[in-house]
Amino acid sequence: ASAQIGVTGLAVMGRNLARNLARNGFTVAVHNRSPERTRSLVAEHGDEGTFVPAESLADFVGSLERPRAVIVMVKAGAPTDAVIDELVPLLEEGDIVVDCGNAHFADTRRREEALRGHGLHFVGTGVSGGEEGALRGPSIMPGGSAESYRKLGPIFEKIAAQVDGTPCCRHIGPDGAGHFVKMVHNGIEYADMQLIAEAYDLLRAGLSASPAEIAEIFREWNGGELESFLIEITADVLAHTDAATGRPFVDVVLDQAEQKGTGRWTVQSALDLGIPITGIAEATFARSLSGHADQREAARRAFPDAGEKWQVDDRETFVEDVRRALLASKIVAYAQGFDHIRAGSREYDWDIDLGGTATIWRGGCIIRARFLDRIREAYDAEPELATLLVAPWFADRVGAGVPGWRRVVADAARAGVPTPAFSSSLAYFDGLRAQRLPAALIQGLRDNFGAHTYRRVDRDGSFHTVWAGDRAEVQA
Ligand code: NDP
Repeated sequence: ASAQIGVTGLAVMGRNLARNLARNGFTVAVHNRSPERTRSLVAEHGDEGTFVPAESLADFVGSLERPRAVIVMVKAGAPTDAVIDELVPLLEEGDIVVDCGNAHFADTRRREEALRGHGLHFVGTGVSGGEEGALRGPSIMPGGSAESYRKLGPIFEKIAAQVDGTPCCRHIGPDGAGHFVKMVHNGIEYADMQLIAEAYDLLRAGLSASPAEIAEIFREWNGGELESFLIEITADVLAHTDAATGRPFVDVVLDQAEQKGTGRWTVQSALDLGIPITGIAEATFARSLSGHADQREAARRAFPDAGEKWQVDDRETFVEDVRRALLASKIVAYAQGFDHIRAGSREYDWDIDLGGTATIWRGGCIIRARFLDRIREAYDAEPELATLLVAPWFADRVGAGVPGWRRVVADAARAGVPTPAFSSSLAYFDGLRAQRLPAALIQGLRDNFGAHTYRRVDRDGSFHTVWAGDRAEVQA
């Protein structure tokens, strides 16, 4: 037994993660259900480090030093359970099974409990950054026991992305905490991409600008507060020309966004926890809407474009308004995402450090951005922060952005350009800061039709008005 860690499941993610481990000096046991993948990994990349290939799971487990650490990187869902079931009888007390696939946190909680019953550690781990990240340094979000992190931490922190000398990996919390945080990360990624797409759409409609011209605007934005991987690649994609037609690439791509389901999971979980993550929800629904081709076709026929052109008077002000609206809406989406993590942490007793979470998203992952430093500072300064929106750096940006944000959303509505994420983020902001909400009327209606009772602004207790009778108020 000589390998420090093993990887089973050597498709693109597992293969690259194994290479990353080997390149960082770890001896890596490698295994895949179909042995061709194991052989090709060693044949093509054997010189990058020390691999210990095995064709049976028993030999693979046998090649690991104790306590064994086995990374499972197979298709999420039933395949993960199948591999775990095969592994368990081969392992001994204290060994660690790490699931780096995109599992739902509820599955991770179930698996962790089951393996704990066998004296094994089960570590659901979020890995972000796609195949490039897996190879060159991902953002790693391990859950599971603190004890398992003593073995895994030094390994994962070495292969993770590094920002200012800090690894983009830290122990998130017990059982499903890592996969939960990865899920919300993906939800935020949905919101980020939707906001960028809306900004592009607004610039295109308002300025009648070409994708290449808009690419320049994004490139400029990337030099400031919005600096991020997604803004950077937006400029690249918008500047790209389709070789076959000579047209802008973005104009030849079918306008139906697909999804693998992590946005949906995030929204479902937020509904369960009662956290309004409207930015992520709108982004997820916007992808769904784009995919309903038949409905879109029917609506286009029923409501043909009047052909009026939206012409912005002051281009410079408009571009700056859109930038500020994008930043403010993005702040709302992140504030909501961190609220969601805090609620999950409370519900499941995970004790997640919000500032620490922002730290490990600064590199390796898709939402990596300069602005995550500000989030870390905000939560480090005040862990019980009511909402990220009121932390000084964010409050300044949102406050300064409000007039432009309103102009953009109003102009877009007038021009018929859909901005579900921009406008719902603004509505969320206005909802939070409203002196009074019409929720009072809703309580009145609920009491009227269902005797659901209400509380008063001036007295403690619950009350009911006898609507069908003399309308006297009674204490409930
Ligand atoms: P896939 O999700 O395509 O899974 C293929 C791998 O799963 C192969 O190694 C395959 O083995 C194995 N497998 C499937 N069914 C079984 C089974 N019943 N028993 C044993 N092994 C099985 O691979 P990816 O590399 O794309 O992703 C791996 C995991 O990482 C997934 O959970 C994915 O969601 C997650 N992930 C992926 C990212 C990405 O960018 N692709 C990013 C982050 C996470 P065989 O070769 O024998 O068919």
